[in-house]
Amino acid sequence: MLLEIVLAATAVSLTPDAEIQAAAASLRAALVATRRDIHQHPELGNREVRTGTLVADRLRALGLEVRHPVAKTGVVGILRGARPGRVVAIRADIDALPIQERNEVPYRSENPGVKHACGHDAHTAIALGAAEVLSRLKPRLPGTVVFLFQPAEEGRPEGEEGGAGLMIKEGALDDPKVEAILGLHMDPFLDIGQVGWSIGPIFASSDTFVIEVEGKRTHGAYPHTGLDPIPVAAEIVQALQLVVSRQIDAQNPKVLTIGEIHGGNRFNILADRVTLKGTMRTLDPAVRREIKERVARTIKGVAEAHGTTASLRFVDEGNSPTMNDAALTRALVPALQRVYGKEHVLEVRPQMGAEDFAAFAERVPGLYIKMGIRNEARGITAPIHTEDFDIDEDVLPLGVRAMATLAWDYLIRGR
Ligand SMILES: [Zn+2]
Ligand SMILES: [Zn+2]
Repeated sequence: MLLEIVLAATAVSLTPDAEIQAAAASLRAALVATRRDIHQHPELGNREVRTGTLVADRLRALGLEVRHPVAKTGVVGILRGARPGRVVAIRADIDALPIQERNEVPYRSENPGVKHACGHDAHTAIALGAAEVLSRLKPRLPGTVVFLFQPAEEGRPEGEEGGAGLMIKEGALDDPKVEAILGLHMDPFLDIGQVGWSIGPIFASSDTFVIEVEGKRTHGAYPHTGLDPIPVAAEIVQALQLVVSRQIDAQNPKVLTIGEIHGGNRFNILADRVTLKGTMRTLDPAVRREIKERVARTIKGVAEAHGTTASLRFVDEGNSPTMNDAALTRALVPALQRVYGKEHVLEVRPQMGAEDFAAFAERVPGLYIKMGIRNEARGITAPIHTEDFDIDEDVLPLGVRAMATLAWDYLIRGR
């Protein structure tokens, strides 16, 4: 009798590491097949019709409650364990990029000009694999796991809603009420078998902006009879770098990049308008607000000094910095250490890339981890968002194990 009580207590208080490991390993071939299927059929943001349907069908086959479509093409899958308890979400993004695949691999993209160059095919396969592993253990699962398959992380066609924000708007974090959320990304800076975490920011905020400098067209030989927006635009480009380097505390990471300048029609005619487009990044919401205000002031001031006008507008709402909750991260790093081995679990520095996972992590405590996929010996070193990007597929069973273990640990321990 006493032994039974002890066994029952142990079953509740421990994550079934061995079972999760065995189940993830047994899925290896299926995970590779799923990832390659999705890789061969990449779809852009808000157009993930095939991918979303594939995910929804798989989740239904596993016996999950499925909501589809959510946020245009996304899927919410709910796995209720036999034991009552907490609610944790695992989020995978499902969209691809407008990049032509250059890899000569059997699973090469069949959609010209579109490629899973950010590893979202792997994120999707891993989340599906975690759903399968955890459904096998459903009779012992001490709580609920919500799987969020999110469209349009990379952006969406102009004028359309989408991404994490729309998932939230359509109730992805409600009913059941999600109490913590886990996210993952492939990371070619880390070797296969390594995983990275951080407390606080792991990705930057990102805001896309457009500046329009107004001019007045005239013959280039008589500039005083018009208004030349080109030198004003040039001065704005320089002045904005001074905002970054002189006006914000050097201790705060930030980037401001102007990636596009358009203006003018002919070499000897003053342009009537110059348009500049760029991105700004920070790791701190306060710095994000500050840099936006200072950029607006600087643009206005430079334009006024030259008797012209310039406007600034932000495209959509942008992303906040992606913040890892300190308590949640501390509670779950031991889970990563059990899966990867202590020496392969690395505290990493935040990157200035951005992630709309930030929107989820603003509402509930989040942990976002980076899974190593680099394998120099096999030539897998290309950065994300490139024609050559690929992953070491050993990450798939390992990733499944990691996500299932993290979820289970959270259900037992909370934060
Ligand atoms: Zn990306
Ligand atoms: Zn990505």
